[in-house]
Formats: sequence, C-alpha cells, structure tokens
Amino acid sequence: MAASSDSTEYESLRAALAAWKSSKDRRELWEEVENLESRLVERLGKTIRVHIPASEPYIALTFAKPGKIGAYVHVGYVDHVIELAGSAVPEASPDCWRTQMSSSWGSKTVLPESSSTAVLCPIDKLEVPKNGSCPKCDWSPSQDA
Ligand SMILES: [Zn+2]
Repeated sequence: MAASSDSTEYESLRAALAAWKSSKDRRELWEEVENLESRLVERLGKTIRVHIPASEPYIALTFAKPGKIGAYVHVGYVDHVIELAGSAVPEASPDCWRTQMSSSWGSKTVLPESSSTAVLCPIDKLEVPKNGSCPKCDWSPSQDA
C-alpha cells in the first residue's frame, strides 16, 4: 500500500477492508463484500485499483473495463455502475445501482431476539416461528430438533 496526500492505495479489496476503520474489526462481513466484487469482476473485468480517499468515506474499486471507478463500498451498502441481481437505483443517487449489505454491517448492535428465533422453511423459504409450522407445507422447526 502506498499513501499519498489525498488517498491510500491497496493491493486488494481484502487489504483495504483490513485497513478501513469501518470494516477492519468486522471480518465476518468481508466475504459479503468480496462476493459482490466477484460479481462485478465477471462483468467489468478484474479489479485494477483499490483506494480509500483521505476522509475514508468509502473503498473505491476500479475495474478493467470502464477503466474508472466501478464500485464504492460504503458502510451498509455498495454502489456500483452496473445493475446486479438484487440491486436497486437509490433515490438519492439515480446514476448508480445499490446493493444493501447485511443488516449487521454499520451498527455493532446485536440483532433483536425475534429475528434470531425465526426459522426459514427449507422447502418454501418462508419464515416460520420457532414453535409454529410453515403456512404452506406444515414443516415445523421442531421436526428437525
Ligand atoms: Zn414450507
């Protein structure tokens, strides 16, 4: 990595995630961001530059094909220049697509108890209360216990 007056360069997204104050202690979330990078690389070519501006608002990723910044990794979301499955155009910046990251990114608060007790039906992917059963197929979490 090389520092200059207005930004710091990293050799990889992983190196930037390990250094960025917003993500360095959140190793569990790195993979989520790297998966998104891989999906962008499939379409935009390999990552040729990773840098963080001096005020550290985001990690910027530059890809081979446009040859300019193609993604901005923010706390909680990533903005990118092409549409990906699951992304949406944010109202505030209509010139990009945004993919929301895991809800645990951005706040260190533990998820509320209720969301950890909900279970997904393995067949229908519907939320099933721990002591209930799937409205569609009657699968219940206790069957697996
Ligand atoms: Zn079901």
